[in-house]
Amino acid sequence: MKLMRSWVESANSPETEFPLNNLPYGVFSVDGDEPRCGIAIGDMVLDVAAMEADGLLRIADDLVLDVPFWNEVMELGPEAWARLRVLLFGFLGEGAESRGMVAEYLIRQSQVRMHMPLLVAEYTDFYAGMQHAKNMGDILRGSPDLPANWLHIPIGYNGRASSVVVSGTDIHRPLGQTRAAGADAPSFGPTKRLDIELEMGAIVGTGSTFGQPITTAQAAEMIFGFVLLNDWSARDIQAWEYQPLGPFQGKAFGTTISPWIVPTAALEPFRCAEPAREVPLLPYLHEKNPGFFNVELEVQMQPADAARASTIARTNYNRVYYSAAQQLTHHAVCGCEMNPGDLLGSGTISGPERGEFGSLMELSWAGKEPFTLETGETRSFIEDGDTLTLRGHAQGDGFRVGFGPCSGRILPALKMPGWE
Ligand code: MN
Repeated sequence: MKLMRSWVESANSPETEFPLNNLPYGVFSVDGDEPRCGIAIGDMVLDVAAMEADGLLRIADDLVLDVPFWNEVMELGPEAWARLRVLLFGFLGEGAESRGMVAEYLIRQSQVRMHMPLLVAEYTDFYAGMQHAKNMGDILRGSPDLPANWLHIPIGYNGRASSVVVSGTDIHRPLGQTRAAGADAPSFGPTKRLDIELEMGAIVGTGSTFGQPITTAQAAEMIFGFVLLNDWSARDIQAWEYQPLGPFQGKAFGTTISPWIVPTAALEPFRCAEPAREVPLLPYLHEKNPGFFNVELEVQMQPADAARASTIARTNYNRVYYSAAQQLTHHAVCGCEMNPGDLLGSGTISGPERGEFGSLMELSWAGKEPFTLETGETRSFIEDGDTLTLRGHAQGDGFRVGFGPCSGRILPALKMPGWE
């Protein structure tokens, strides 16, 4: 796959995450204006909401970009998504006849503020990283053996849509109940083990029907695109609360996504083989066209007073054991209705080496082996003022397809009665 050239010169740079091959969906505002839908191209945003309002871009019979989120486009389905891409290639491709008109709708990314690109209907988080599951078993239970169900079932839990936020949103250190090692009783206060989880998020574009299962092929067609996702986690809150019903408050205080939804079509050239299976999956999870993608991922950490961010982990989305389509299939197979705007977290993505671990719990081995930043500071978990940033891109031949940063800064816990 080669670079598709655009007359927007910055889109042809091998460094940009937004060549013509990408065309990700976002929502932006300028100078405090109303947020509106845009498409990233090079270092610009194309104001497609204004183009539709001015009658220059027609996606459906009715206006679908007159709202500050992409859900109405999602609901139109994959044929409409493909038509929109073709229209955009026509507007932005090298030699486009409409260049003069389109140029009036380009705004520099440096001038915009990004907002949530979608209304999140519901949020489900999975557990598809095998190395992560082994590491957590080793750390928490003293054995890296996978749970008996892990090789058969895409494990997940129903999370909260209300606390999904866009990159750049500050997060206060959460308060909660924890029980210190050896203590008889729990106490209340700020988490002492604040962590990240490096994940990809799949956005469900079209829904399924209540009571009806779906196939993996149907599930693949329902996925509108992908974001980077940081499933912030409070490990001490989680450890005390999670038995027997799974994560609750330890993961309900914030989940950060990248500002740009990369279309599934833009990742198509980066599709890769499914992982080796130690045991065969049940037939309802088989995929004719496995939904795994090569996306290089990176975690950066920057303390408040540090001059620069340090890279603390690098891995790849191709490390996951279950594809987003398999997870979506499993989610709906009991008859659970899936809806436009549903967000599915992949699960923490870790590779086999220490430098490929996608959480601080693993990188510091539960705090027993603190790691050192490039600036010389050491960390086990996140401290107040630290900024954590996920980055990701698929690498093509002389171009890359990326998501923009998925970043959040941790602020001190808010004071409240019961914690002084
Ligand atoms: Mn997670």
